[in-house]
Amino acid sequence: LKARLANASRQPGSTADGHRVDLMVNIGSAADLASADLTGVAGVGLFRTEFLFLERRTEPGFDEQVSAYREVFDAVGDRTVIVRTLDAGADKPLPFLGLADEPNPALGVRGFRTARWRPEVLDTQLRAIAAAATSTRATVRVMAPMISTATEAADFAERAGRHGLANAGVMVEVPAAALRASALLQVAGFLSIGTNDLSQYTLAVDRQSGDLPDLLDPWQPALLELIAMCTRAGREAGKSVSVCGEAAADPLLAPILVGLGVTRLSMSARSLPAVREALSSHDLADCERMAERALAAADAAQARAAVARAAVARG
Ligand code: PEP
Ligand code: MG
Repeated sequence: LKARLANASRQPGSTADGHRVDLMVNIGSAADLASADLTGVAGVGLFRTEFLFLERRTEPGFDEQVSAYREVFDAVGDRTVIVRTLDAGADKPLPFLGLADEPNPALGVRGFRTARWRPEVLDTQLRAIAAAATSTRATVRVMAPMISTATEAADFAERAGRHGLANAGVMVEVPAAALRASALLQVAGFLSIGTNDLSQYTLAVDRQSGDLPDLLDPWQPALLELIAMCTRAGREAGKSVSVCGEAAADPLLAPILVGLGVTRLSMSARSLPAVREALSSHDLADCERMAERALAAADAAQARAAVARAAVARG
């Protein structure tokens, strides 16, 4: 059994009946990769680049960025790495951006929106990512955080394209983006759903506050419904739709996400074995059935309970 498990952990992710699901890791720096075993892993689904920028008085220069990105690209070998461009705002303050304080930072100038004030910061970052990507075996893709409209998605894809970064993707973190998923996919190469922010904005609960955990819960049928909208659009466009928020790391929820049509799951490396195991114990049809139960539930707790009942009935 041990040998079988060890062998299973080296395979790409899939359901019991062989439906392939790319499993990827979330990282903040090359150091996060040093301790991760990438065997059977499709690559990095979310490289949060803001760690390079945080606590800095001045913007990291082009050369410094190139070497930081190159270190990560070299470490992933011939896998895919999805680099998220700077996700800053009043909640993750970057003094050098010179942005004003805001009473509601979560509803303010954050993520891709910062490029309205400081477009050159994004352009330098894209140029550095493109430079680092030229000398690597990795497939490098960029994606933008906090996209709300197809115009923003087109603007980002166009900027990335100018630096030779093709098939740029966008994150779905705002309900408006999920509602407009088809329009976004006309201009973006893929969607990656950030369930941490998408829960916050869908349920109108601050993700930093611990007061309303039953509402700020990725099992909320409203959130699952928005994810289903994204995957329908992805199927129609023939493009990949991934989840890179905490929801992907929940071994009970991951099969539901796959049942909803998510093609890639990205999570911290330590969550990956349990998710891989969970997927391999369900057929795709099972995942789809459980997803329907969850969608039909009245709230998050009932969605969890309905899925647990379905799993027991099956077993
Ligand atoms: C998310 O919002 O789900 C996400 C992956 O981005 P972050 O947690 O960095 O905001
Ligand atoms: Mg986010």
